[in-house]
Amino acid sequence: MATIKLEVVSPDRVVYANDIAMLIVRSTAGELGILPKHAPLVTGLIPHAMRVKLPGESEERLLAVAGGFMEVTPEKITVLASAAEEPEAIDVNRAQRAYQRAKERIAAFHQSVPESTDIDMGRAELALQRAKARLMATKTHFDD
Ligand code: ATP
Repeated sequence: MATIKLEVVSPDRVVYANDIAMLIVRSTAGELGILPKHAPLVTGLIPHAMRVKLPGESEERLLAVAGGFMEVTPEKITVLASAAEEPEAIDVNRAQRAYQRAKERIAAFHQSVPESTDIDMGRAELALQRAKARLMATKTHFDD
């Protein structure tokens, strides 16, 4: 089966490297499926759980990515992530706390709670997306 190299790099380490059959990512331009021999491409990635299909395996592997960039050549996919984790490295309680914090900030902003004028909505939305990516990568239920 044809494969393509995948390397997911965060600022401090190589998070994941493997020969894979397909990668499904959420880019700034929408969802993309990358197969071997894909045309060259550079795009931004939004926080989400990337889906990795390995050759000969029906089940997908999930990787949380907090955002960053992806470069594709016909032989290799490089994801340069601000942060990325394999499910086993994710602290679910921490992600749940981050999720709650972001939800509360966004709700306070919408309800015009007096102290909420200091809330940076863009930052809160991104924190929420990162927390959701980690919960999805660990298949942890959350109320959306
Ligand atoms: P928090 O508010 O919990 O710090 P965050 O989304 O602001 O979450 P990031 O800025 O995306 O965190 O990541 C900072 C560092 O912490 C990165 O190295 C990332 O891999 C790690 N990290 C963040 N959340 C988790 C988690 N739930 N489990 C494991 N590592 C995490």
